[in-house]
Amino acid sequence: MTRLDHFHEECGIFAIYGHPEAAKLAYLGLHALQHRGQESAGICAADGRRLVCHRAMGLVAEVFTEPVLAELPGTAAIGHTRYSTAGDSSFHNAQPFTVECNKGHLALAHNGNLTNAIDLRRQLDATGSIFQGTSDTEVILHLVARSRERALPAALREALLQIEGAYSLLVLSQEQLIVVRDPRGFRPLAMGRLEHEGRECPVFASETCAFDLIGARYTGDLEPGEMAIIGPGGITQERFAPVQPHSHCVFEHVYFSRPDSVVFGRPVEDSRESLGRLLARECPAQADIVVPVPDSGVAAAVGYAAESGLPYRVALIRNHYVGRTFIEPSQTIRDFGVKLKLNPVRWLIEGKRVVLVDDSIVRGTTSRKIVRMVRAAGAREVHLRISCPPTISPCYYGVDTPTKEELIASSHSVEQIRKFIEADSLGYLSLEGLRQAVADQEGRFCYACYTAHYPTDLVGIEALLQSSERRR
Ligand code: AMP
Repeated sequence: MTRLDHFHEECGIFAIYGHPEAAKLAYLGLHALQHRGQESAGICAADGRRLVCHRAMGLVAEVFTEPVLAELPGTAAIGHTRYSTAGDSSFHNAQPFTVECNKGHLALAHNGNLTNAIDLRRQLDATGSIFQGTSDTEVILHLVARSRERALPAALREALLQIEGAYSLLVLSQEQLIVVRDPRGFRPLAMGRLEHEGRECPVFASETCAFDLIGARYTGDLEPGEMAIIGPGGITQERFAPVQPHSHCVFEHVYFSRPDSVVFGRPVEDSRESLGRLLARECPAQADIVVPVPDSGVAAAVGYAAESGLPYRVALIRNHYVGRTFIEPSQTIRDFGVKLKLNPVRWLIEGKRVVLVDDSIVRGTTSRKIVRMVRAAGAREVHLRISCPPTISPCYYGVDTPTKEELIASSHSVEQIRKFIEADSLGYLSLEGLRQAVADQEGRFCYACYTAHYPTDLVGIEALLQSSERRR
């Protein structure tokens, strides 16, 4: 049977080559990328002769203890943190994946989602390939193993020409690290250098905040369609696919990346504040205070307040220590889930007309709880402002969005959504405003979740969506 659940993974990846503490630095890098995935974590390290991998379900700091890291040898390492949906979290899908094949012992870490993986997997299944998990990433390993090319870079190149969609990839063998970015550059992949005893070790990460933690210098991004091959002889960079228009994920700037990162060569904080400023111009509100929904709405709310001249007030407090397990009371407490995470500061809100700023509305259920919470704390009016256009269509390139039917904006007007979330007014940033905030004059971003115009073919994915029960 051809199963493929994971076409919506959100992930963080990190790689380092030529450093005696490679695994420890990978651990720190992953720690900085923890926001990109909290379900599982893994590191593979190589010492020129062998490859050792440790991966498990849980947060980076839970998965990697001192003794575990001490077992990861050598001077090269790749790491991966992964988010998955509630129903399909499985150890078999935790990365990096490893395989022993005719190309040696290989490990692979992938951020993104392949849009033709179902077709490829069906073909591989039919000819005897055996899969361990349900992730699209395994397909790449099978294609590499089957290639008649003997050298790893050539075999990988052959595999890459068969796959489509979004992939920022790290491949580690006993003596080589290969780093690849898909020709459209959907997902980020930053390059840097870490100085060690007079030499500069190459480092790679989903976001530059990983470099800040380990003291590495950001040197730019791996170009879409390029492959960097790092071995004992040094580093070479080559193009493996013809130049294509770029389709960087705009949602990285709206929500997903950390504001202290530079993503696609642009500071995320800059984009977020601009989103807020433009939102204030497009959707002003007669109000007394601007309140961010933490943490997703913070930077946009700062921009909104600055542009509108309204005071910025931190009137929703987030508990950062909410784990994945908690004991529910036997008596039902209303909106228990959201109360665990957020609590209003009544003294700031009481009697006020409040502009609440958040980055997006997906299903609308959380937003409704927050609006109710602010009203229950005494707000006279609640005006919700969203720093991007309505999310009308799912992402097939690696962001976890639910099915089209579950996206409230796919079937409801702004006025209907306003009623559903019980706000006094609701305003979204326009597509043009979003483009302006990320300075996208050349059309290098993907806006498919707002427009339903996908930059690639979606071979098989839509059929799969209709047939599978998807949970978030
Ligand atoms: P809801 O009102 O239920 O649609 O939830 C909206 C909240 O979900 C906002 O605070 C967003 O920041 C957050 N959100 C949006 N997209 C995602 C995502 N891909 N993963 C996790 N949270 C998200």
